Amino acid sequence: MTNTNEAEMPKKSLNFIEQIVENDLKDGLNDGRIQTRFPPEPNGYLHIGHVKAICLDFGIAEKYNGICNLRFDDTNPVKEDVEYVDSIQGDIQWLGFHWKNLYYASDYFQQLYDLAIRFIKDGKAYVDEQSAETIAQQKGTPTVPGIESPYRNRPIAENIDLFERMNKGEFADGSMVLRAKIDMTHSNMHFRDPIMYRIITTHPHHRTGTTWKVYPMYDFAHGQSDYFEGVTHSICTLEFEVHRPLYDWFLDQFAGKDYRPKQREFNRLNITYTVMSKRKMLQLVQEGLVRGWDDPRMPTVCGLRRRGYTATSIRNFIDSIGYTKVEGIIDVSVLEHAIREDLKPKADRVCAIFDPIKLVITNYPESKTETLITENNPENENSGTREMLFGRELYIERSDFMENAPKDFFRLTPNGREVRLKSAYIIQCTGCKKDSDDNITEIYCTYDTTSKSGTEGGNRKIKSTINWVEINSCLNAEVRLYDRLFSIEDPSASEKDFRDLLNPNSLTIVNNCKVEAALKNAKPLSHFQFLKVGYFTVDEDSKDGQLIFNRTVSLKDTWAKKTE
Ligand code: ATP
Ligand code: MG
Repeated sequence: MTNTNEAEMPKKSLNFIEQIVENDLKDGLNDGRIQTRFPPEPNGYLHIGHVKAICLDFGIAEKYNGICNLRFDDTNPVKEDVEYVDSIQGDIQWLGFHWKNLYYASDYFQQLYDLAIRFIKDGKAYVDEQSAETIAQQKGTPTVPGIESPYRNRPIAENIDLFERMNKGEFADGSMVLRAKIDMTHSNMHFRDPIMYRIITTHPHHRTGTTWKVYPMYDFAHGQSDYFEGVTHSICTLEFEVHRPLYDWFLDQFAGKDYRPKQREFNRLNITYTVMSKRKMLQLVQEGLVRGWDDPRMPTVCGLRRRGYTATSIRNFIDSIGYTKVEGIIDVSVLEHAIREDLKPKADRVCAIFDPIKLVITNYPESKTETLITENNPENENSGTREMLFGRELYIERSDFMENAPKDFFRLTPNGREVRLKSAYIIQCTGCKKDSDDNITEIYCTYDTTSKSGTEGGNRKIKSTINWVEINSCLNAEVRLYDRLFSIEDPSASEKDFRDLLNPNSLTIVNNCKVEAALKNAKPLSHFQFLKVGYFTVDEDSKDGQLIFNRTVSLKDTWAKKTE
């Protein structure tokens, strides 16, 4: 890639939501006030799809001097938990965003309840005692009108009495619902008397305990919460576009004319070889198909972080894909490109030997060791240097040696060809030792004493450089190599159960990896480039003397080659 001066950079064009916001500002809407919210339901961990919404909600507020609040959409105690509330806050902060206020839809339970009573009094809501199945059957289809419930025209007083008793816990879960009385023949199915409230007595709410026995449905809670808070732009994903008229209808029934929140929709993020749904992710976790929400193969924010993704790389990725009105699926290589670009100047280059074999430099004195200096990162002049211990016995990668090599093999083979040991000396292979089964156990070489890197003799051009670690000082490490979680591009589009589409080789553990001594005190989540291999981070399971690394991403897109 060529370097571009900031001054020469083309000004990034506005996305369509920013365009809408600018037009609203021009029209003087809401006195120029911009307010957004990010409204997660605390029923799972945040995934990278949510980050797309977060970047837009917080980004719009930041760009137009507005505010963005975090509002937990906690209206279903059956699935929600404080564990999720806490993780969501932590993840948003880690991404580098700051909400103005922290709200909960449950803050508005009383207001919403009072509003529901008002709807009943206005003849716009009724208690239906039919089963969920019957209600669904009567809904009709887009071309067949629905059927009115026999309870639709109950007297208002009866509706109020029943709704109040629903909330006192007098009726079983599922026995009754409160429905808006709109139009069972409406062309928009969402208008066919949508459910406003349901009874939940089986699970206490994580904030309000057992105070409430009725809980508002999304369609009733969301727009009203936006309104109570003063949200101007309620941004969500495209599947809510068909809900928008209902969002407006509820507001029309009671809100003043001078201020209205407006819902706007953008395309969801989908990425190849993964799923982007909390429900499916929860299943993977609960059924032990991954090691937890933060399994590095998961598309969750905590999984990506543990995998070694930086907040910057994730935000750059989101920035690069943009916002549209058309659903699609983004190739995971775009995400991988973002982390490679971010880590290139940040991650120190170190030697790690995955399949070690001993190399003995026969003309190097037995008791001698020396300290060599190597650059931490040639792509970053501020990254400094570090020491590497060098000695007579080293580990090198088994694949860097071939006994009977073809002509185009430029690494170690006993044919007189010279090879450079990274940041050290030039060597020539002289042979190898084998056990009784013909397995190679040691490789022998001699070194050119005048060829040390960084000295004049070190300038000699050699076709091939190989990695090494000194045998006595190197550290043992476990390395976890991750691959695609699913074996097909779009598991959600398949007719098969998504769990049957998992990639059986999504995790390979290398137990006997040898790494440089310099990694001894590497902290969890610090980033390294294992030379020639990829980017790695220290896993939080790593303990003193027991290093564990996660592969964030390989240096090149090896998958593309594999599937060619
Ligand atoms: P899931 O389908 O994974 O359960 P959700 O939409 O139910 O997700 P919420 O907690 O309701 O999850 O989402 C909070 C916000 O994040 C919503 O505004 C939603 O539109 C947005 N969001 C969720 N998934 C995506 C996605 N894949 N891409 C972009 N935005 C998303
Ligand atoms: Mg949802």
